[in-house]
Amino acid sequence: MEIGFHGHEFDKAERNTQTLIEKTINWFRSKSIFVVAYGTGCGAIEMPPTFTSRYDAERGGVVGVATPRQADVIIVSGYLAYKTLRRVIRTYEQMQSPKYVIGLGSCAINGGMYWDSYNTIKKLDDYIPVDMLVNGCMPRPEALLEGFAKLQERIRNGEQGGWEKYEKNLEFYKKNQKKVLGENIDPSYEADWYMLKQGATL
Ligand code: SF4
Repeated sequence: MEIGFHGHEFDKAERNTQTLIEKTINWFRSKSIFVVAYGTGCGAIEMPPTFTSRYDAERGGVVGVATPRQADVIIVSGYLAYKTLRRVIRTYEQMQSPKYVIGLGSCAINGGMYWDSYNTIKKLDDYIPVDMLVNGCMPRPEALLEGFAKLQERIRNGEQGGWEKYEKNLEFYKKNQKKVLGENIDPSYEADWYMLKQGATL
């Protein structure tokens, strides 16, 4: 006997039904992947052909959306400057769970050709949890589609997502984020943050 929602006791038949329901939900989830339209490094240039008629990711249930509030996936498409990292963290934290991160290209894995740059991060997974890494510099749309197919397989199998890791290890991620961004992690949208008051332009 197993205790389920609201203390209800499930017998074996009901347990199987639950599994079937979960399987069905996961299957539907894997076939409706909403990707927030946001590009960071040079890999972003491969995203338009992936999502438009040339490679047509929508055939596999993968579509772009304009807001993180509706998105399941964010693609970090290459190197990340500290300034962009602030925005990526903000965007990721605005997305609803279950949510996933795809790291696109060598720069997201180990810094790539920016490995010794003074203002880019080296390993994306130290700052936000990465669910799928797609190798290459820059990875072609076929590689990105393969990454989506593997991510969909994991969703179908009900495997744990990075958002759970993020919640459980929030202290670890916040410590790493603060190391490069300082105590104030949130981006400021105040004009004076950009020194506009002193005559600078964006
Ligand atoms: S992996 Fe290559 S293509 Fe992608 S952001 Fe880095 S340098 Fe640019």
